[in-house]
Amino acid sequence: MIVDGHEDIAYNVVTFGRDYTRPAQDTRAAEADNAQARVAMGDCMLGLPEWLKGNVGVIFATLFAMPAHRAETGIAAYTTPQEADAQAMEQLDVYGRLADENPRFTWVRDQKELDAVLATWKDGVPEEKRQIGLVVLMEGADPIIRPQDLERWYERGLRIVGPSWLAGTRYAGGDASGGPLTDDGIQLLRMMMDFNLVLDVSHLSEQACLQAMDRYDGPVIASHSNPRKLVSGNRQLSDDMIKAVLERDGVMGILPINSMLKEGWRRGDRKDAVTVADVAGAMDYVCQLAGDAQHVALGTDFDGGFGAESAPAELSTIADLPKVAIALKARGYAEADIEAIMGGNWLRILRRALP
Ligand SMILES: [Zn+2]
Repeated sequence: MIVDGHEDIAYNVVTFGRDYTRPAQDTRAAEADNAQARVAMGDCMLGLPEWLKGNVGVIFATLFAMPAHRAETGIAAYTTPQEADAQAMEQLDVYGRLADENPRFTWVRDQKELDAVLATWKDGVPEEKRQIGLVVLMEGADPIIRPQDLERWYERGLRIVGPSWLAGTRYAGGDASGGPLTDDGIQLLRMMMDFNLVLDVSHLSEQACLQAMDRYDGPVIASHSNPRKLVSGNRQLSDDMIKAVLERDGVMGILPINSMLKEGWRRGDRKDAVTVADVAGAMDYVCQLAGDAQHVALGTDFDGGFGAESAPAELSTIADLPKVAIALKARGYAEADIEAIMGGNWLRILRRALP
């Protein structure tokens, strides 16, 4: 069973009306004439049949509010914290509806709910019983109006928080802006420790990330970040940032996205210029720094602003993720290490974090 550390499911449902209970091919067909979705999203890679076929049993599913300064025209975006809160709430409702209306989806908020999902993936359980667990991750914390509002979000089921995104939030400098944790950001981290939430350092500036690593005692991840050593740019983690995550026994989710695996790759370049061997290579880089295979995983970010045209040659939909395991095997990884990378390492974080 695979665990994916980052998918923007609800944002796409709300913004582009995607129906992720149907096959990815159906979504592609439905969007064939929708130029805005095609440009903004690319060829859909996610869908219920594909998650099941790819053995994806747990997903860190995001709440992502779009700041106005980054939005394309026609896309709902926020300028105030209240508007960000409203966007994230609407997306939270998407996950609530998925779990209520479809027996295949379960909202995972505690150990018991995680156990229930994992039990459906055990040997001997018929395939039609398998469930997909959704763990809610907030990408960019502006929807949390004040740090003390975190309690309300926790009660609503939020379990992972990435304080920043690109140009930064009221809580922290972002990967595109630079800058430190703000006073509110420091207070937010304190509140997060009270609830033992997972801190996601993806999209934090280097400064804010290293500051946060010094202060945060709870579980730490980078849900979707690749090594900067392989592709330059502040969106990727420097070795110092990776080592700080490793020192905290954190886990880093690798994105199978060509532009983050091969220096200079741009959207529109050949899909097959990058392969799953490059995904395994990025994972291996983290394993070499760590000295083990306990600290790297998958954070696909599939459908997070790009599609199949921008993923490695062998990957058309999420159903193809097991091919990453084959590439790790080809690189000489042992079965137990491959299992850890494909899912076990994320589960270790959830075991540490969930109530
Ligand atoms: Zn992201």
